Amino acid sequence: MKKQVLVLGGNFGGLTAAIALKKALHGDVDVTVMSDRDYFLYNPSLIWLPFGLRTRDDITFKVGPTFEAAGVEFVQKAAAKIEPELNRVVDVDGVIHPYDYLVIATGTVNDWDRVPGVKENAGTIVTLADAEDSGRRWREFLNDPGDIVIGATQGASCFGAAYEYLFNVSYQLRKAGIKKQVKLTYVTAEPYLGHFGIDGMPTGEFMVDMFMKKESITGITNMAMEYVSKDAVKLADGRELPFKYAMVVPPFLGIDAVRSCDTISNAAGFVPVRDTYQTKTYDNVYAVGLAAAVQVPWTTPVAVGVPKTGFPTEIQAHVAAANISSQIAGLVPTREKPFAEIPALCVMDAGNNGIMLLGDHMLKPRRAAMLIPGPQNHAIKVGLEKYFLWKSRTGRVNLP
Ligand SMILES: Cc1cc2nc3c(=O)[nH]c(=O)nc-3n(C[C@H](O)[C@H](O)[C@H](O)COP(=O)(O)OP(=O)(O)OC[C@H]3O[C@@H](n4cnc5c(N)ncnc54)[C@H](O)[C@@H]3O)c2cc1C
Repeated sequence: MKKQVLVLGGNFGGLTAAIALKKALHGDVDVTVMSDRDYFLYNPSLIWLPFGLRTRDDITFKVGPTFEAAGVEFVQKAAAKIEPELNRVVDVDGVIHPYDYLVIATGTVNDWDRVPGVKENAGTIVTLADAEDSGRRWREFLNDPGDIVIGATQGASCFGAAYEYLFNVSYQLRKAGIKKQVKLTYVTAEPYLGHFGIDGMPTGEFMVDMFMKKESITGITNMAMEYVSKDAVKLADGRELPFKYAMVVPPFLGIDAVRSCDTISNAAGFVPVRDTYQTKTYDNVYAVGLAAAVQVPWTTPVAVGVPKTGFPTEIQAHVAAANISSQIAGLVPTREKPFAEIPALCVMDAGNNGIMLLGDHMLKPRRAAMLIPGPQNHAIKVGLEKYFLWKSRTGRVNLP
């Protein structure tokens, strides 16, 4: 009997794991991807969508044809329940999907409860719907400008996106000719500017500080938010920052189906994994990307999470695919790549400028790490967008 592999989620992690596995084993395995949506989203470009620089169509593609061309079955359905002791997943319609091997690549949901009012009064840019909503708020703001607050709450992890959005806002204000009349403030849980949720990079604090001064942005670090009202962010130290426009990155949780399966997930709904990306509890269940838990290796006065970006997600997906191939061949899974040791590779956009982050390891200790600032990074970011959309759409997951 052919082994059945079920992959939950069809974006960076799910698409990569499913197609890599099918490419490795061809007809010797049946791979099915189940995802609640029928499109791939290139999340890094959400920072541009609110300004009308990208549309939904620019940064998405339908995954059905991609999976069909790769010989992977695609089911558009949300997983509702994972039952690892029975080797099956139940979808929202109650249909049972049995598996021999399961890969969980279901990403996250926003934790709106950590700071009341973020969803209703500030908004964010984490999902396509969030970014479209931020775009509506931005257009309203342009008709009636005032102060702006951009932030990342206690427990947040996606600091790169917050910085990118901050500097893109500053750039857009200048283009609209209203930069001088707007007070722009960045509020973050990070203990220092340029921590990025990875405990910084050499010269990072200095470089971000320099960018902020050049753009006349006020930075408030080490800060929790109490709530966001209709027109102000209330900080934990009692201060209120009035705004006409705000964007706040919240903390994340695992999706409900994962969070409710307590034999595989932690309290926040993330899946603790071994270095093989097998879950701690089941040899045949894997988790990659945002869905996988990462131990936060520091203690900060205000809680700061670790960002799980696209590059490590793809590496984890390849490791999981290689290990499932081994298991199907009757071997012990031996491929290992701890999250902390995956290279750091990220380009942060600033509108017409940016910073490239390079490091041999995501987390310290690192032997080599550097930041390269400059306008070329905006062009690189745009190039990466085109490349990744092409690579993913055409299923060329073995390319870097
Ligand atoms: C604004 C923003 C900017 C970013 N910028 C960068 C960047 O510049 N560089 C970078 O490397 N990374 C960046 N990232 C991070 C990057 O997007 C993530 O690392 C990547 O998306 C992780 O992939 P994933 O497959 O784990 O999760 P996701 O991409 O979130 O995919 C999750 C998948 O699971 C599916 N799913 C959800 N619920 C269910 C369910 N119940 N059943 C079945 N399927 C389900 C979803 O539809 C989706 O297909 C950014 C993220 C954001 C939000």
